[in-house]
Amino acid sequence: MRAGAVLALFFLPAMSAPAADSRFEAVEPAMGTLFRITLYAPGPEQAKIAFSRAFALAHQLDDVFSDYRPSSELNRLCRAGNAAVSPPLFDILTLAHGLARETGGAFDPTAGPVVKLWREARANRALPAAADIDAALRRTGWRKVSLKARRRSVRLGAPDMQLDLGGIAKGWAADRILAELRRLGFPRALVAASGDIAAGDPPPGLPGWRIAVAGGRVEVVRNAGVSTSGDAEQFVVLDGVRYSHIIDPRSGWALRDSSPVTVIAKNAALSDALATALSVDPHLAIRRAHKVRILR
Ligand code: AMP
Ligand code: MG
Repeated sequence: MRAGAVLALFFLPAMSAPAADSRFEAVEPAMGTLFRITLYAPGPEQAKIAFSRAFALAHQLDDVFSDYRPSSELNRLCRAGNAAVSPPLFDILTLAHGLARETGGAFDPTAGPVVKLWREARANRALPAAADIDAALRRTGWRKVSLKARRRSVRLGAPDMQLDLGGIAKGWAADRILAELRRLGFPRALVAASGDIAAGDPPPGLPGWRIAVAGGRVEVVRNAGVSTSGDAEQFVVLDGVRYSHIIDPRSGWALRDSSPVTVIAKNAALSDALATALSVDPHLAIRRAHKVRILR
């Protein structure tokens, strides 16, 4: 879905801001979800400009990463099997590939064929056939992808592979939008793409942004990424078992009864991917390497 204009622009009088800046908020659909941006600006004119730049960037990135749009750069790469790609696509694929290696494939951006099978299972309310899962698994595997930085070239080493950046793209985009807002002079901002949040400098006079996390608690954060994964919104119950939209790329099966996990990391791309990975494998030893906090 693509909306040409900002859906809603709220002026929220800043209760605790002694400075001249006031709080503004806008919401717009992008990347198959709602992006909610909160920022502090001197007035509505400046805020409007900031929002339109921010949402334009969200749509641009959707044109690159979308697995739904046949014309996205990601899907063109999948059809070709081999291509030199744009800097944002190469950056996110490099990060995703490194995290796939580090998580032993619990996070795997090549899981597209299996994700699609389970998307159909949710729509048809029927479990996929074992033979279909096996066939889909043969088209997946992060080890089959090679990335060459010099030419930003990407090669998919098996026929009919389908990359799926659904577990990292919203966080990555939220980071980029936050960076763009900072560049435009709005460092006090928060970009929330449903469960994936990039928090910038805090609201005036406050230590951070208040964010609801797994377990019903509220955390106060600044200059960090916060992501919550789980099956709260996307799931199907079949024969009394609740299957998540997150799949285990190693077995090809959707997670069952996946309870929410929140990751707080240095940025939202990392928190996004690691929250998905920890849903698959709750015992992943990633806390130290990435200095993340994990909340359940
Ligand atoms: P999230 O909501 O961030 O946990 O991401 C879930 C989305 O990522 C799904 O809708 C799929 O598109 C994709 N996905 C599901 N399972 C995985 C996985 N194990 N690794 C990477 N991406 C996944
Ligand atoms: Mg994620």
